[in-house]
Amino acid sequence: MISAYIKNAIKCLTDLFFPPSCMICGEYLDHEMYICQDCLKNLELHKNESKTSLSVFAYNESIKLLIHELKYNNRPEIGYILGKEMGKRLKEYLITENAVLIPVPLHKKRLRKRGYNQSEKICEGFSEVSGIKINKELLFRRINNISQTKLNALSRADNVKGIFSFSESELDKETHIILVDDLITTGATSKEASSVLKNNGFNNFFAMSVATSTK
Ligand SMILES: [Zn+2]
Repeated sequence: MISAYIKNAIKCLTDLFFPPSCMICGEYLDHEMYICQDCLKNLELHKNESKTSLSVFAYNESIKLLIHELKYNNRPEIGYILGKEMGKRLKEYLITENAVLIPVPLHKKRLRKRGYNQSEKICEGFSEVSGIKINKELLFRRINNISQTKLNALSRADNVKGIFSFSESELDKETHIILVDDLITTGATSKEASSVLKNNGFNNFFAMSVATSTK
């Protein structure tokens, strides 16, 4: 109790001297966290061409910054905010019946280091708006592969081979699975996850991400 009180008091003081401002436009924030309502509304949509994956936002400087802060600067709330906004934009186009959201799992070592799974945070926001439940039991990351960021397309496919394992569950095989990731680059990770799901009888799925990175 005391520590929460002190934390809150410190936050009030910092807010007084350094009022929170929007990460994108720099405007002071009222009650929002990190991003103002205008910047959130102005996030540009991505033009999707793929039938098996869906990226919601265009990969521009704003999204790059938000994803970077989400993954490397201990700001899990950004995942939740983005997920909620994704849900708002997609709500009327999605089949929500018999659907589940599966966050791309992190290996327990990376999870411990980051403290949270960023894809899970995105799912939480998305779930709140869409009502689609989150399933964290079906897929596991059994291998802590090195980051995909610095690899080319060919090595990326190799780097993700066999990294996921499947855990039997009661989940109906006809369930529409929405695999959620922060960023899709070559699609190697989501392809690997979807092949594991396919091998276990799940054939209805697509990958959804905040954005598609172009490099
Ligand atoms: Zn703003």
